[in-house]
Amino acid sequence: MNTEENLDCIFCKIVSGEIPTEFIGENEHAVAFKDLYPQAPVHILVVPKSHSENISKMIIKSELEGVFDLIRTVTSEFTDGQFKLQFNSGSREGQTVFHTHAHVLSQQSK
Ligand code: 5GP
Ligand code: ZN
Repeated sequence: MNTEENLDCIFCKIVSGEIPTEFIGENEHAVAFKDLYPQAPVHILVVPKSHSENISKMIIKSELEGVFDLIRTVTSEFTDGQFKLQFNSGSREGQTVFHTHAHVLSQQSK
């Protein structure tokens, strides 16, 4: 389920502004910011504003649409149009922050 905010969650703190972070994109449902430890020349995280554990727990269509709209915006603004999109889901599969997020990775910025 989605809840507004999980007080122990680092991405909820980024969304709320408690951890100051520069947003390079935002819409009603999601924010985008640079990954602290980039794995590629362009490495952006797109994060829904509401807390959910991973993409499979996101059930509200308008929120999913908001996330994917922002992915489209940041890929067109910050990459040359070629990129990887990754949602690590579950610790075995590499998830370390348990608030849904998309990694946008590209070898070439715009
Ligand atoms: P995961 O491993 O869960 O798929 O991805 C979590 C990502 O969040 C990692 O790539 C990590 O570098 C990034 N990250 C963790 N803490 C912070 C933070 O406080 N600020 C930013 N900008 N990125 C973070
Ligand atoms: Zn959260």
